[in-house]
Amino acid sequence: MGGKGSGRPCFGARATTEDYPSIDVRHWQRDGLLVPYQSFNQQWFQHGKVAASIEVCTEPDRVILTHHQSSGEDWEYESYPVDLDWTNCNPGGQCPWFLCPAFGCDRRVAILYESGIFACRHCCQLAYSCQREGNFLRALRRADKICARLGGETTGIIPRYGRKPKGMRWSTYERLTDQYDTILDALIRR
Ligand SMILES: [Zn+2]
Repeated sequence: MGGKGSGRPCFGARATTEDYPSIDVRHWQRDGLLVPYQSFNQQWFQHGKVAASIEVCTEPDRVILTHHQSSGEDWEYESYPVDLDWTNCNPGGQCPWFLCPAFGCDRRVAILYESGIFACRHCCQLAYSCQREGNFLRALRRADKICARLGGETTGIIPRYGRKPKGMRWSTYERLTDQYDTILDALIRR
């Protein structure tokens, strides 16, 4: 047996690893990895072994992910582009975003989660799988509150924050968006 999907951590289940496969474009930017025409690797471990790894090749407005996924004894390889988008963030600065590569999605997100391919949490249906649990709703309310302060959208299952409101300090905005990200991150790691 061992078809696609077996031996892979499942969203909504309790992951047994702390090192859950996700990629954060802000970390790549912070570490200077998004300079075009270079490549780097990222790996995730489970039970002390490499469970997944990707090679990332950078281009000006996209990255090519080559995804090595352990599937029982075998390794699966898959290559696909993920477009990048840039917005103004810190004064004079540019913040990178992934555009979710899942078909028909294109959501602008900072973090993609492994789900066969790396995709945004919406596409991974994380919200739906967590929703049955009370903690989800509590965490969601906290995320909602943050988004309300940040003028974000609260339509849809997961609230999303918007640009920094006028008059709010950047440090406050960053602290709130960090809190938001931590909440969402905790939701899907449970
Ligand atoms: Zn998506």
